[in-house]
Amino acid sequence: MRLYNTLTRGEEPFAPSADNTVRMYTCGLTVYARGHIGNFRTFVCLDVLRRTLKYLCGYRVRQVMNFTDVDDRTINGAQKAGMDLRAYTDQYIAAFREDMRALGLEEIEEMPRATDEPNLRAMANMVAALERNGHTYRSDGSIYFKISTMPGYGKLARLDHQGMKPGARVDSDNYAKEDARDFVLWKGPREGEPSWEFADAGVPAGRPGWHIECSAMALRLLGEAPIDVHAGGIDLVFPHHENEIAQSEGATGKPFSRFWVHVEYLIVDEQKMSKSLGNTYTIPDVVAKGFRPSAVRYLLLSAHYRKQLNFTWESLGSAEKALQRLTDCLARLDLVTAPGSHPNLAPQIARAREAFAAALRDDLNTAAALGAVFELVSAVNAAIDTGDVGLDDVAAIREAFDDVDRVLGVLSLRRVEDECPPVPVDEIERFIEERHAARRRRDFAAADRIRDDLAARGVLLEDSPTGTRWKRK
Ligand code: AMP
Ligand code: ZN
Repeated sequence: MRLYNTLTRGEEPFAPSADNTVRMYTCGLTVYARGHIGNFRTFVCLDVLRRTLKYLCGYRVRQVMNFTDVDDRTINGAQKAGMDLRAYTDQYIAAFREDMRALGLEEIEEMPRATDEPNLRAMANMVAALERNGHTYRSDGSIYFKISTMPGYGKLARLDHQGMKPGARVDSDNYAKEDARDFVLWKGPREGEPSWEFADAGVPAGRPGWHIECSAMALRLLGEAPIDVHAGGIDLVFPHHENEIAQSEGATGKPFSRFWVHVEYLIVDEQKMSKSLGNTYTIPDVVAKGFRPSAVRYLLLSAHYRKQLNFTWESLGSAEKALQRLTDCLARLDLVTAPGSHPNLAPQIARAREAFAAALRDDLNTAAALGAVFELVSAVNAAIDTGDVGLDDVAAIREAFDDVDRVLGVLSLRRVEDECPPVPVDEIERFIEERHAARRRRDFAAADRIRDDLAARGVLLEDSPTGTRWKRK
């Protein structure tokens, strides 16, 4: 497979370095809010990368995706909510797991929290190693990374060395690119902030900076540097990933990651979808508008991951329609009864499979891969229209769709959605009863309200002489 590597700014052939196993680290969610579909663009694309490596390339994958549950934003959020940090972040971790399932993301081998004791200890040990190797200094109770001690600093972000400010310290986790500075590794204790001490490692009371969390968890859980892939959204290139490289390489003396993969933004009206701009939608927001998570997954895969993708409700509607074209085609196959096969279809199926795999092996070109799937859909629909399809073809077509979907993960998700409606069945039945009661007392406004509320939640009611039935929108 060929994969674009941000480190070299070029596509390179990719294979894991050892054991046929890809060791991949993904920067996960900062759990101070429910993840939005911009965050999930990154996670869905990386899920398809993971599936491509497994099912198309035949590698094993060992992936780590963390939860950033201690940093400036989580601490501020917990303080504002008047909650304990762990309890505060717990709620967003639970929501993330729910959304992950709703979007059909595969189970990830390790999803560590930064504040788990073994992880904090690994961070403290890394800080201690950096101190031993002469990459740090202490000031006001905090420990800083001294970027002038790393000649290669800036190699990922291609920083202009004029813009670097060695000796100028920065305590916040994030800052502007023009302003590369010595960054904090371990922050001294502050009023109202959690604090940990690792006296045996020589690390005083305090808490980790954001960047050290990922460096330490990646190497603790994936083993020796270099790992194979380090991934995240494009905004993480600087300062986060640049600083992760400085820390990991400063501590181990070895390159940190062979490949760096970055997913471009989901945007809204030319701006990044982000909580600070107030233009975000979560999965529950999308579901409340009557859309299904499978349509979101499809939409997020409809563009190449290195191109920006503009989110609109119309584009989500189009994704839903495209997905329905796929499921309609599969449903039509149920009606085929003729035995045998027709000579035209087998080569078309083979061509579609090849084009699909080639597109994904070409730097994960999901847009072209979907194009190959839809060429097959058109060919199958045409064959059904003219009666040129037999039961043997049907089996081969279904197998092709199953294989394709192992990577795309949209059809299987759709099936799961069909099996469990967006509103629990007993709740739907109770609403149907209440609506009948409202009609009996001629309160049609109340009856319509119940129907509209259910429709907004993705359930349609259909009245017939024999009673009321419901179906998914
Ligand atoms: P955060 O919770 O801010 O640390 O972000 C979690 C992940 O989502 C990171 O990999 C970000 O780069 C990514 N991300 C945030 N906003 C967007 C967006 N609008 N489009 C794509 N990825 C994003
Ligand atoms: Zn990270």
